[in-house]
Amino acid sequence: MTQNAGKGFGTGEKSIINVMHDPENNSNRDTFSSAKVFFHVDMDAFYASVEQSDNPEYRGKPVIIGASPGKRGVVSACSYEARKFGIHSAMPISQAYARCRNGIYLPVRMKRYQEISRQIMEIFDDFTPEVLQISIDEAFLNMTGTEKLFGSPTEAAEKIKLTIKEKTNLNTSIGIAHNKFLAKLASDHDKPDGLYEVQKGYEIDFLNSIKLGDLWGLGKKTLILLENINITTVQELRAVKLRDLKHITGNSSGEFLFNIVRGVDPGIYSGKIKKPSVSNEITFEEDTENSELIKLTILELAHKIFFRILESGEKGRTVQLKLRFTDFTTVTIRETLEYSVNSGEELYKLAVKLLEKKWDGLTAVRLIGLGLSSLESNKTPDQIELFPNTYDQARKVEQVVLDIKKRGSKLTKASLLKHTRDDS
Ligand SMILES: [Mg+2]
Repeated sequence: MTQNAGKGFGTGEKSIINVMHDPENNSNRDTFSSAKVFFHVDMDAFYASVEQSDNPEYRGKPVIIGASPGKRGVVSACSYEARKFGIHSAMPISQAYARCRNGIYLPVRMKRYQEISRQIMEIFDDFTPEVLQISIDEAFLNMTGTEKLFGSPTEAAEKIKLTIKEKTNLNTSIGIAHNKFLAKLASDHDKPDGLYEVQKGYEIDFLNSIKLGDLWGLGKKTLILLENINITTVQELRAVKLRDLKHITGNSSGEFLFNIVRGVDPGIYSGKIKKPSVSNEITFEEDTENSELIKLTILELAHKIFFRILESGEKGRTVQLKLRFTDFTTVTIRETLEYSVNSGEELYKLAVKLLEKKWDGLTAVRLIGLGLSSLESNKTPDQIELFPNTYDQARKVEQVVLDIKKRGSKLTKASLLKHTRDDS
């Protein structure tokens, strides 16, 4: 964490919390005395499980999602059966194939995963009005005060697991605790198909049972830094004074570590999400430093956003890229152009330039967000048409694809992805 020490963990969210005085996250004293109940719900091997649910013949088999064997590319997700072969996300597909030749290799069907994701999020809405989705397959549910409706927290969690199973045929792991940080750790505890509650008064015992490296938000760099001074367990880390922690890892990281080993929510997710005009973000199933996967994700986001822009008859000039790293440091970088972005392809290329400015190529990335703002009607003429020739054609192609899509054809952005990949 030394490199990012000045920025700290999830600086963006933290500052929002401080401004809003979010009582749940801001008051450390109340953490254990409050009667709040949070669930962290996390789907098990989500993409692969969707494939296994849609295709019963894949069940019980190693399913690997990403590029096809023989092509360049990486594993984007895989089933538990594939993990037994040592396969994991972000591994080059060639390596995965070397480990498991009989695996079922499938392309990413993001649209389908999003469809199921929406279904699951709708289920949550039936259990609580306070749902905070943090990725395609994860959400926090504030279940405080729902006992009369759904019974004890464990009973409510069983109901949620069962409802998801009935409606989507998928397995879920749920962690229950008095704050989001502990709930997030708890959902991992009994995965897959897990249900674990961190009981009041047992927070410290629970934390002591967790490996230092598994503490949510504690990055590899920090782990090495701590190992160098012989701190290898949660208990040992808890014994370090705040002043010393700040000295070792930087002010905000020090405070972060001091809080989490005591089970105090550091406020990574404040629950207040601003919705900028046209933007989208994706959290990787596993943090990744694979630049190909990262760029493919940006490509996917760029096309998604651009279709929305085309559909709304708008255009935008400000490109915004958000990166959240493995240690929850979040950076957002914007660039406002003198002309409006003309295609998903152009948006992609601009975003990659921003990525190259802010990413060292080594730090694992947890989340990528892309947005386009400074929107106006696309009937407004641009003041300066700097690159009319380069991207005009691309915009026309995308408009055609959008028109075809509207008429119900199966032509999707997958073909666009292909088109762009072949081009570049
Ligand atoms: Mg998951």
